Amino acid sequence: YASGGVSRNPATGETIATYPYQTVDEVEATMQASAEAFRVWRDTPMEQRVAAYRRLAETLRERSDTLAALITAEMGKTIGAARSEIEKSAGTLDWLAEHGPAILADEPVSVDGDDEVHVSYLPIGTILGVMPWNLPIWQVIRASGPIMLSGNGFLLKHAPNVMGSAYALQQAYEASGFPKGLFGNLNTDNETVARVIEDPRIAAVTLTGSMRAGAAVAATAARALKKSLLELGGSDAFIVLADANLDLAVAAGIQARFGNSGQVCLAAKRFLLERPIAQEFTRKFVEAASKLKVGDPLDASTALGPMARHDLRDELHEQVERTLAQGAKLLLGGQKVEGPGNFYAPTVLADVAPGMAAFEEETFGPVAAITMVEDVEHAIALTNASEYGLGGSLWTADTARAQRIARRLETGGVFINGFSASNPRIPVGGVKKSGYGRELSHFGLREFTNPQAVWTK
Ligand code: NDP
Repeated sequence: YASGGVSRNPATGETIATYPYQTVDEVEATMQASAEAFRVWRDTPMEQRVAAYRRLAETLRERSDTLAALITAEMGKTIGAARSEIEKSAGTLDWLAEHGPAILADEPVSVDGDDEVHVSYLPIGTILGVMPWNLPIWQVIRASGPIMLSGNGFLLKHAPNVMGSAYALQQAYEASGFPKGLFGNLNTDNETVARVIEDPRIAAVTLTGSMRAGAAVAATAARALKKSLLELGGSDAFIVLADANLDLAVAAGIQARFGNSGQVCLAAKRFLLERPIAQEFTRKFVEAASKLKVGDPLDASTALGPMARHDLRDELHEQVERTLAQGAKLLLGGQKVEGPGNFYAPTVLADVAPGMAAFEEETFGPVAAITMVEDVEHAIALTNASEYGLGGSLWTADTARAQRIARRLETGGVFINGFSASNPRIPVGGVKKSGYGRELSHFGLREFTNPQAVWTK
């Protein structure tokens, strides 16, 4: 991408469009427009901001077919999943419009005596969002939705392969009555992004992506003394205990691992199965995975579209080969699908142990790694043996016990008898190398505000 983004259909290999990088002047104008729009938006009453949010939700729904087709063309997810992504984005905007104002309202503090004390959640300026391609609209709404309601601006540096989605979203913001430039796109290289982070018109940065990208962006932000939030993916455990409902767990595990062709930060990646049910779960899981239809993401019967990029499929395949060379057993798949497009066969690896690639690294594609565990203690130890700590699932009939186990898991989320999923009502984010900070819920709404203490004597 020496000179700009190329959006290429991953199902066919065809180039859809190219997006030459902005000139230095265009980057400057984008930042300036955002700074000016911020001053307008900051002073816009909350009722009007909420009205714009509701209009944006409507705009997304009205444009759902076009937007979904664009997402599918640019990154390969199935068309049904792309439509759900739009609906989830619209639903989150509705939730923010409904509940955000109360969360951002002045918060009274009681003190001794008659003094009036409160905390105001004030905006801090324009936030730069560096975003990935795996959910091209949702990731951006998840980040920008909470951030902008408090009065901040948002400049998006999207992944080069989904610039069409980035511009379509900007148009949706503009069509919904947000001040022009408040939500803007930066289409530029990483060096320029570093200069943008240092620019006084940028208040802070939020990034979703790899550890490598997160470390680079956070280091630049730290040098400029600016706050950063990092959402860096994970290697979530999917723990199945001996007393779990196996059929439900298998069905959920299939969805949690193979949805979006496995390219989800919160996807189940490591299956930790308690010995008494390990064999039966594995058999049922492999059987279900072998039935998943891989192919044209526009075909309604397709379960798995292609992976978003050629190089990412190569990397995934290399992880599978290394894991096998390290002693894991191949139960299903393990290969690229011949022909045009970046298709990868649903893959199941068994006997995966600590130290092996699929255990230690994030597998960002349709590859399930199975490890047998002796008991709950072993499952907890292996869950926490990962350098990641994003989400995770725990399957058991004893939910009270599961809640006690949850407290011992070093993760940002635990889903008991369900699989990890973001929801506007709950915080999303991780610990350890999954990043820091929280998005969505009241945490996300306040993450990029100035909680100003006002003490009146
Ligand atoms: P990246 O982390 O490289 O890309 C995510 C975003 O970060 C893109 O917009 C990218 O832009 C940007 N970026 C990368 N490096 C820098 C930098 N130094 N300065 C500024 N911006 C930067 O992910 P990849 O697409 O290469 O995917 C690699 C792996 O990352 C995946 O296999 C997966 O493990 C993980 N990942 C996790 C995601 C999640 O949801 N948590 C999402 C995507 C990936 P550009 O491409 O222009 O560099």
